[in-house]
Amino acid sequence: MMTKSEIAKKLTALKKELKSSSLIAVTKYSPLEEVVLAYEAHQYDFGENRVADLALKAGDFLNAERSKVRWHLIGHLQSNKVQTLFKIPNLYAIHSVDSIHLLEELIKHESALVVPEVKFFFQVNTSHEVEKSGFESKEELNRAVELIMKRPSSKLKFYGLMTMGTIRTAEFEVSAQRCFKDLASIAHQLEVSFGLKNKLKLSMGMSQDYKIALSCGSDFIRIGSALFK
Ligand SMILES: *Cc1c(COP(=O)(O)O)cnc(C)c1O
Repeated sequence: MMTKSEIAKKLTALKKELKSSSLIAVTKYSPLEEVVLAYEAHQYDFGENRVADLALKAGDFLNAERSKVRWHLIGHLQSNKVQTLFKIPNLYAIHSVDSIHLLEELIKHESALVVPEVKFFFQVNTSHEVEKSGFESKEELNRAVELIMKRPSSKLKFYGLMTMGTIRTAEFEVSAQRCFKDLASIAHQLEVSFGLKNKLKLSMGMSQDYKIALSCGSDFIRIGSALFK
């Protein structure tokens, strides 16, 4: 496990690169103690892949009154986990709304949310790799946005788009840049078509490609392995 000063050093170095974007520290491989050290080093945004892990860590944070924490779900969400997710204290954002079906489940259960509102991102499969989730077609994405725009008073706040760069390729930099530019352009098209007043946020970039993502205008980078070894 890393020490507090090692974590603090890495956080400081990473945050220097960020300018106005935000860092989500991805804790899926980290024990709770390591997450606490990062929190004590003033990192408050944390991402987890699985609802069960998120619920456990969030419960511990609540008991210890670490109330500045903001939890982000970044992994695929199964419909049958939505109600558990909505009971999580300090849930801040869901980055992985990857289908209309899932959006409908979120809407159906929104009154179960224990937080006043939760931000969410539509995940877009810009790399078209079969093992990745996400919206595949612009038509389907448009229908999802229409659905949420019809419900302006919802506790679910449409906040932006998320994607992952291609992993398995010799030239991952080139592919990642293409994925990130695609996401920025899809977001722009949605802003224009739906007359969105607030600019859509972009959640893109992980340890291996976050510099590329930042150069493409990312608002949230999600970093695990480059932060916690
Ligand atoms: C694991 C994960 C990350 C962080 O990946 P690293 O390569 O460890 O930085 C970011 N986003 C998602 C969706 C992930 O599953």
